[in-house]
Amino acid sequence: MAAYLLRHLEKTSSLSSEGRLSLFLDYDGTLTGIAGRPEEAHLPARTMEVVEALSLRFPLAIVSGRSLADIKARVGIDSIVYAGNHGLEISSPHFSMTYDIGREARSALESMRPALLGLERIFPGLLVEDKALTLTVHYRLLDPALFEVFKDAFDLAAGAVLRGGFLRLTHSRKAFELRANVGWDKGRALEWLLERPFFKGTAPLYMGDDDTDVDAYRSIKSKGISVNVGRAADEAGYFLMYQKEVEPFLKWLARGPLRSAA
Ligand SMILES: [Mg+2]
Repeated sequence: MAAYLLRHLEKTSSLSSEGRLSLFLDYDGTLTGIAGRPEEAHLPARTMEVVEALSLRFPLAIVSGRSLADIKARVGIDSIVYAGNHGLEISSPHFSMTYDIGREARSALESMRPALLGLERIFPGLLVEDKALTLTVHYRLLDPALFEVFKDAFDLAAGAVLRGGFLRLTHSRKAFELRANVGWDKGRALEWLLERPFFKGTAPLYMGDDDTDVDAYRSIKSKGISVNVGRAADEAGYFLMYQKEVEPFLKWLARGPLRSAA
């Protein structure tokens, strides 16, 4: 059973005061609220300040489903680690990595692009985001009355390619994502990061908000602190009820481990 983080700060507090804590923060739905269109999800200046302050105290990474270039530009702090495309692309001042999704997955994504752009032209409000290693179809702004028709058209367009086995379909936050069907996700990326000297020996605090974060919660179950924002998820040890609670928590952490949250 997940515990409400703001009432159970002991573990975070002690790891922080021992200097053993590292931070892994998701962007959309965690550091920012969910915007109607993905390009509208800007990081508030005060959140950026607190993330920057935290990066001086703790090894820190932003982990996102956005492309690496997009997430780096949105957060805009040079000294931290970024993992984009659900961990397929990682960069930092200390190391970088691009996961090779393979020729077949790349060409499967290539072949899906025109079909999805065709759907975007037909369905008002639909937004296709090409993240090179992932294709995302956002339907948040689609008229709900059109959803079933859109879903049938999407299944028809994606069906054959998915049956080919080189891509897989994931669903998050009113978006369908076509991703390479490789054994790599936010959880594997987190494990990889924890092996880098920059993070090695630290206990991770991972904060996320949707299904793509569950892989990360699972991967650190025994060795860290997993926090799901928005609801108590079975897979995460802790939760925050609202996205608005993230910033006060991070501020508390940035100020120092020995003060109370009150
Ligand atoms: Mg998120």
